[in-house]
Amino acid sequence: MRERKTSVLIFLILLSACAAWSRELPETCTYHVYSWNAKTQTSVGHRTIRHPYDEIKGDEVDPASGCTVCEEDQVTIELPPLKPFRFCRNYAPVLKAALETLLRAGEPITEIDGYHAGRTRGALDKNGNRTGFSSHAYGTAVDINRNRNGFYHDCFVFNPKCRLMQGGPWRPGTSGTLTADGVIVETLKAAGFKWGGEEEGSQKDFMHISLTGF
Ligand SMILES: [Zn+2]
Repeated sequence: MRERKTSVLIFLILLSACAAWSRELPETCTYHVYSWNAKTQTSVGHRTIRHPYDEIKGDEVDPASGCTVCEEDQVTIELPPLKPFRFCRNYAPVLKAALETLLRAGEPITEIDGYHAGRTRGALDKNGNRTGFSSHAYGTAVDINRNRNGFYHDCFVFNPKCRLMQGGPWRPGTSGTLTADGVIVETLKAAGFKWGGEEEGSQKDFMHISLTGF
């Protein structure tokens, strides 16, 4: 009996290993990159990068998730009537299931943005351009209802003096606004995601839901 259990276990381990290996790696890595300029508050330097997939290097891959900036590693999630958006292939099923639960329950989600390969985080170069990829660049983040869940600076704790940088003003209690005790944030956190409204430090990104942080 014990032998049989052991062989069943070995079979299951082999089966899951095969599933992980069965996807052939893409031949190329393609992405449309740009930088966020902190002086002009615009996106600059738009260009398309394409190279062999096995030449992925440096910050093109996110060590925390294994997701990459390559379009080939993203899948499109369709949840009509929302506009389709892209997310890292490995985690898309978990996100999609959580969002389907919320939409079925009638939660007011009207807009979702996912993957875009922008350097919108981190240190500035001499021209004022951000140099780090955000989690959106790896397809591990979505922005929900941006017009009701702004991104703020100078905001260690939310107060009327926080500086709205992107999106619309955050007014807890109004429909479609994300809050710590709301069903949208609670459901996505239960599925393993983090909420940018709980980001420590001076920024609060109320629209932002991500796998690995901010
Ligand atoms: Zn975001």
